[in-house]
Amino acid sequence: SIIVFGSINIDLVATTPRLPVPGETLLGEEFFKVSGGKGANQAVALAKLGIPTQMVGRVGADDFGVELVNNLQSSGVQIDNIFVDETVSSGVAIIAVNHAGENQIIVIPGANGRVNQEDVERLSQLLPEATALLLQLEIPITTVIAAATAARKSKIRVILDPAPAQSNFPDELYPLVDIITPNEVEAAQLVGFPVDGEEQAAKAAEVLLQRGVKCAIVKLGAKGVFCATAEEKFFVPVFPVHAVDTVAAGDAFNGGLTAALFAGFSLHQAVVWGAAAGALATTKSGAQTSLPDRFTFDAFLRE
Ligand code: ADP
Repeated sequence: SIIVFGSINIDLVATTPRLPVPGETLLGEEFFKVSGGKGANQAVALAKLGIPTQMVGRVGADDFGVELVNNLQSSGVQIDNIFVDETVSSGVAIIAVNHAGENQIIVIPGANGRVNQEDVERLSQLLPEATALLLQLEIPITTVIAAATAARKSKIRVILDPAPAQSNFPDELYPLVDIITPNEVEAAQLVGFPVDGEEQAAKAAEVLLQRGVKCAIVKLGAKGVFCATAEEKFFVPVFPVHAVDTVAAGDAFNGGLTAALFAGFSLHQAVVWGAAAGALATTKSGAQTSLPDRFTFDAFLRE
């Protein structure tokens, strides 16, 4: 199976004509909840593509935690290794959005911020049966390093999405990573120069390879994807679609990429699958709800 070790989060979204000022109470319009967290999104992306997927992470002992775990389970993710932490809330993002589309966001890491060595130990039990470990940066960085180290010991492939963008990314993590998958913003943060388009992506990928990753894949949004290893460098163009919402496109990409590698396809084909899953995710709004199922995915690839 594939193991995703990372964040599980719920977004509480309120729409309002304008954002409140300090001390102000105002009437909003609509409220909705969206299950997210980059870890959970990537697990759902894989499970919806029919890949056996285990989620390892934490939720709080609250109603959101129950809801988040239930949602993961109904998407087909194995949830036995999600720990319910009695001491904190689940990870939540409290989001206000105005008519201009501007937002104010408060992120409470909650249980995600408590993912620690105990969870790495549970992960280690699962690693011998796994084919890959997916990581992101919404849990403590020391825990990410410990998880990557455990995977390396078990000779399990590590795929790291260095998101959200980090300015203090630890150098020791690079050599523990087989595939790193930044978008343009994240790549720029890591390498320290702007990344916009294929040419700079190639330069950034070169830097990341020198730092010790085996493969660097730079996601260029609507401009496609650049991929480099010591042996090969290639660009995969975007699948032309009518994009309505790019939320979770990057998570869909990582799901598609890993699903292809799980099925034994080449790196090039895996990047094509990633790009296809990313493109499909932009055609629907929402996070986990926008991720394609296997039927839709196969039909899209055949077109
Ligand atoms: P992130 O969501 O991490 O910022 P990107 O925006 O780069 O990542 O999107 C990930 C991948 O999804 C892209 O590399 C591309 O393959 C696909 N994608 C993103 N936006 C579009 C789009 N407008 N049309 C088609 N495919 C897209």
